[in-house]
Amino acid sequence: MHEYHKAVEWVNRANEEAAARGAAKVKALNVVFGECSDYSPEVVKNYFDEAAAGTACEGAEFHVTVSRSMLKCPQCGKLFEKKLLEYRCPDCGAEGNPTESGNEVELTSIEV
Ligand SMILES: [Zn+2]
Repeated sequence: MHEYHKAVEWVNRANEEAAARGAAKVKALNVVFGECSDYSPEVVKNYFDEAAAGTACEGAEFHVTVSRSMLKCPQCGKLFEKKLLEYRCPDCGAEGNPTESGNEVELTSIEV
């Protein structure tokens, strides 16, 4: 059900922003899904369409960006992309720590 809550949150935020900009319609939402988040963009979109019916968001599209999972090296501070079964820093070989990148689910902007 977390997808449902996210969808409702985004409908509300986009409607508020459209109203604040004096727009009658929301054309599209630019959203980011981390590749490691447990959200499905398709499921969020389905709930979004339901929640958006009859509001300024009705018929709005999702422009989805998938963010890559990044690790941070505890020794040298390097930020690097996590690869399958590979967690080591390419510079110094220390095991990287997880970061927020790759887990986020965010509405970054709307187009009206
Ligand atoms: Zn390092």
